[in-house]
Amino acid sequence: MSAAEARARSAFRDAADPVFLAASDRVLVSVPPGLRVGGELMVGQRATFAVADPATGATVATVVDATPQDALDAVAIAYESGRAWAATSTRHRSDVLHRAYAILMERRDEIALLITREMGKPLAEARGEVTYASDYVRWYAEEALRPAGNVRPGPEGDVRLLTSRAPVGTCLLITPWNFPMAMATRKIAPALAAGCSVILKPAELTPLTSLLVADIFREAGVPDGLVNVVTTTDAAGLSRAVMADPRVRKVSFTGSTPVGRTLLAQASENLLKTSMELGGNAPLIVFDDADLERAVEGALTAKLRNGGQSCTAANRYLVQEGIADAFIEAFSERMSQIVVGNGLAAGVGLGPVIDQRALDKCTRLVDDAIARGATLATGGKAIDSAGWFFEPTVLVDASDDAEIATTEIFGPVASITRFSTQQEAIDRANDTPFGLSAYVFTQDLDRAFTVADRLETGMVGFNQGIVSNISAPFGGTKHSGLGREGGAEGLEEYQDIRYYAMNRRQTA
Ligand code: NAD
Repeated sequence: MSAAEARARSAFRDAADPVFLAASDRVLVSVPPGLRVGGELMVGQRATFAVADPATGATVATVVDATPQDALDAVAIAYESGRAWAATSTRHRSDVLHRAYAILMERRDEIALLITREMGKPLAEARGEVTYASDYVRWYAEEALRPAGNVRPGPEGDVRLLTSRAPVGTCLLITPWNFPMAMATRKIAPALAAGCSVILKPAELTPLTSLLVADIFREAGVPDGLVNVVTTTDAAGLSRAVMADPRVRKVSFTGSTPVGRTLLAQASENLLKTSMELGGNAPLIVFDDADLERAVEGALTAKLRNGGQSCTAANRYLVQEGIADAFIEAFSERMSQIVVGNGLAAGVGLGPVIDQRALDKCTRLVDDAIARGATLATGGKAIDSAGWFFEPTVLVDASDDAEIATTEIFGPVASITRFSTQQEAIDRANDTPFGLSAYVFTQDLDRAFTVADRLETGMVGFNQGIVSNISAPFGGTKHSGLGREGGAEGLEEYQDIRYYAMNRRQTA
């Protein structure tokens, strides 16, 4: 038995039938097949569902299909263990999170492999996600020690007002499939740092990474019952039941805007604290004075990170007339050179999209844009394969009435249109109900800030195609959501403000 296999087997020694995902000669990954509720693996006679590898269509593993009652069992356990955890010192929570960070990084290759198998992104990118996702755990290990609070005098001088932070309580966390690890740790880490317990419902397309990460938290000393993972195909039934339970005080959701809207309405029943990280429709604006090379590099990152399946992906390329032809030529050339294939293979720069539905959507958007007058600079179609691959594609001059002009693409398709004035670029960038991220390429500092200040978004990247950073408040405006993740702000999402009034009398 190899060292990797021995470690994997011992990590899941209590699993009745661990799923082993042998994949390379160096790494072997296993995930428990059951739900991780209160430290117990719930397997037995339960329904299961299959998780597919988007690069091949083959089943990677099957996991338990939890019922709403399973989730309510998790709530009961989470509520009890959360009360004990809330009473621990911040130093203790910090130490546990630091240990979790160390193990996550030690097992980076295993987790990355699992991400690639269930989600499809190239292995190098998956390793990058593990580093990024683990960094949230380290960041909140540090932030745990710095809860906000202050003392101020009342205006009349007769009271001292003290404010501190209390954990919000038991939280429901719902994550999407596109960053199976980072979207989970971005919620779990601040929740634990604040003193909360969680029920995590991962996307049904990518539940395996969450099961493995929860086991690593357990190995790091997170008490049983604090991090519960509930895998299900009945997301709506499960979340409705959990949010109706008065022991749950918070829901944090990352996903599409329509589902976020539904959850907000449901959260109003029990007045839950909410964080909503929703869809995007990012403009990427290139002005005539931009550095062409940097603009092309940034434009590629903003499109191809995660194969275009990122909420911050550049969705609308707005390029000023003077630089447009040069930009289109250089960008299309680079897009056409991207190697597409199974993310496990060396040298692959673009993996599959997540499923058949995503593939069909790319095809539909491209065909519709061309039918309405757009020209194709490169790519344009699905690749004939067992998996779900789409060519890196560049469309030019799509008309405003094309579906692609207003839809979140979520695939490796870039749509470029031209503009003439700064005001036109701003108006077009803001002409969307979404407001998550935007990108501005210019060498003029005054212009950069003038434009950024007028963009209705939560985040702006200057001369770079990426905005995510563990220490930054990630989040959007308008239909892109409420609340922030990351930074000091991310901790506050899991805290309530407590205020104490202290009478103050002058003594002789
Ligand atoms: P989705 O909304 O379909 O699903 C997200 C999660 O919600 C999944 O776990 C799913 O099972 C669950 N869900 C679905 N219907 C539900 C319901 N009725 N009640 C409760 N839960 C339900 O989104 P997706 O396709 O998984 O992810 C893509 C979307 O996520 C895109 O719109 C993208 O922009 C957005 N996203 C946003 C951010 C951000 O930080 N703003 C980050 C990543 C992804």
